[in-house]
Amino acid sequence: MDASFSPGDRVLLIDGKARRYLITLREGGQFHTHAGVTPHDSILGLPDGSTVRSPSGAKYLALRPTLADFVLSMPRGAQVIYPKDLGPLLILADVYPGARILEAGVGSGALSMTLLRAGADVVGYELREDFAAKAQANVASFLGEGCPYRVELRDVYEGIDETGLDRILLDLPEPWRVVKHALTALRPGGILVSYLPGIGQVVQLREALDAASFMLAETVEVLQRSWHIEGQSVRPDHRMVAHTGFLTAARRPADQPLV
Ligand code: SAH
Repeated sequence: MDASFSPGDRVLLIDGKARRYLITLREGGQFHTHAGVTPHDSILGLPDGSTVRSPSGAKYLALRPTLADFVLSMPRGAQVIYPKDLGPLLILADVYPGARILEAGVGSGALSMTLLRAGADVVGYELREDFAAKAQANVASFLGEGCPYRVELRDVYEGIDETGLDRILLDLPEPWRVVKHALTALRPGGILVSYLPGIGQVVQLREALDAASFMLAETVEVLQRSWHIEGQSVRPDHRMVAHTGFLTAARRPADQPLV
């Protein structure tokens, strides 16, 4: 990708107080804040990572948004999975280029775009039409058209049509209701991963996975603590996100139990 900004590009502008604004560049466009107006033309043609000065004197850093930047600033309906959990989910689910993945529900598409960007082929099942549309729009907006991504409006608790799937990723309230479908939809050795906010839900899922003879079940919680580093003041930040969700993974056995 050419490093300099052109029309249609997304740019993250960060002001002196670390406030972030995500804009799409247009010729003749304008970016307005309380600090005044910045013409898009003053950003077009600059390299990624430039400092932009508006005629009113405001200064912004102009950067191409990363996946994490985009997830945190894109239009959302459902609660998204945060970057701190998206990274570990890729490793727990062992996502690889060409992996065939079923994802349910897709919500705003944060997990979808993470899987697609890692090279997977993704089919999403989603109950709500508005979320299905939002996820598809967000994916196209960040990754462009033509991704191997299809979203079907349907209830995953009622069954999965796909077979021979490499992975199933679940972010919905009752994933234990998907376990018996996963037994036939996943290939032997395939991995099911579930994101759940409550530990009671995790226990119910683990019981269902055990009953269906899923192998190597594990549950983790990811705690991320950032540090303040400025001169002699070097310490953990005062605030951190206390809780998002628990990540549970397990693998489908080759031998099918009678369930
Ligand atoms: N992981 C998503 C957020 C998912 S929010 C992200 O990162 O953006 C949970 C979604 O699951 C909601 O959109 C909800 O409509 C959907 N959902 C809940 N139960 C479902 C079911 N039985 N089948 C399909 N989708 C379901």
